[in-house]
Amino acid sequence: MKDAKFSTKTIWAGEKEQLAFGATQVPVVHSVSFGYDDMDEWYEVAVGRKPGHIYGRNTNPTVQAFEEKVRILEGAEAATSFSTGMAAISNTLGTLLFPGDRVVSIKDTYGGTNKIFTEFLPKQQVEVVLTETGNHELLEEEIAKGCKVLYLESPTNPTVKITDIKRMAEAGRAVGAIVIVDNTFATPVNQNPLELGADLVIHSATKFLGGHADALGGVVCGNKELVEAIYHYREINGATLDPMAAYLLLRGMKTLKLRIDQQNKNAQEIAEYLKTFDLVEAVFYPGLPDHPHHDIAKAQMKGYGGMLSFAVKGGVETVRDLLPKLKFANRAANLGSVETVVGPSRTTSHVECTPEERAAMGIPEGLIRYSAGIEDIDDLKQDLAQAFQTIQTYAKS
Ligand SMILES: *Cc1c(COP(=O)(O)O)cnc(C)c1O
Repeated sequence: MKDAKFSTKTIWAGEKEQLAFGATQVPVVHSVSFGYDDMDEWYEVAVGRKPGHIYGRNTNPTVQAFEEKVRILEGAEAATSFSTGMAAISNTLGTLLFPGDRVVSIKDTYGGTNKIFTEFLPKQQVEVVLTETGNHELLEEEIAKGCKVLYLESPTNPTVKITDIKRMAEAGRAVGAIVIVDNTFATPVNQNPLELGADLVIHSATKFLGGHADALGGVVCGNKELVEAIYHYREINGATLDPMAAYLLLRGMKTLKLRIDQQNKNAQEIAEYLKTFDLVEAVFYPGLPDHPHHDIAKAQMKGYGGMLSFAVKGGVETVRDLLPKLKFANRAANLGSVETVVGPSRTTSHVECTPEERAAMGIPEGLIRYSAGIEDIDDLKQDLAQAFQTIQTYAKS
């Protein structure tokens, strides 16, 4: 498996160990517990001296296959999974941060993550410093003051800002920080933070990894010791991934490379196409040469991803008119699925924030998040054209 190419790994990795009865597909093991007639064997498994399963909150064969596939795709020593991406993030931070610790991150993290930083961690006497996303000098300055955890996300949600992971990981390591990267937007197809110096990589598997918007899940992978500590926190606190969800995520991941390649292409074309409309004020996509950190993205990513966003003239009013006219897009809060998904940021990624907080993060109220699906690009372009056409027609009349 080690020498196989990426797309081959997405299909074969992690599965063989869990196959039973000659089945070619990983079974969904719904059993909550695993029985032992031999008391000594039970004990050996329970204390971790022998491989096996005891109780579904701790481990499960289907879930393990999912963890193993992600582990191999990210080139990590270990991986552990969670019921959601937010569970992965909160359990990871909960394992690593204690009163008196300091964490440095950026202002543009995912809305839920931002809430952990601004609402929950301060209550536990953890000092949180959030710097302007994309300002590498400022981030380095704060890191140099010392921190237990450096938490990054690149590209960010929803304005797809880029942070130089290698440069920041070096700064983090210099002060002994644990460097964490939320790689949800990029996926292991486009970006491998562990190769860039991160200690831990987090995914909301709900998004691109699963790819079909039909299962929630999260995963953390990287340094073995850290992952084991996080696993222990999760097995006690109970944010376990459901075996049925694990199966759906596993199945989705088999087409990860095909989907992401197509989404990379579609997002690039849509970003370029959007620039041709009068009603579009700004387009945010790391694959556009005018993106402020296009060069960093080019250096650290293999593809620019399926996510983009654009601001329309007329703000919320235009958003309200435009989005319902799209035929080939779900208007919904998820992203990364095979269908194109659109939504105003104020109702999706940053719904937890007040308008003032969103403004402080540089998120215009008329910003639309666009998650490119795998549809035919001509249909997606045509769809946008007819939607803009309709509102321009009655704006004139
Ligand atoms: C959606 C998302 C999360 C949270 O994942 P859930 O599975 O919804 O809990 C975290 N980070 C990013 C970047 C996301 O897009």
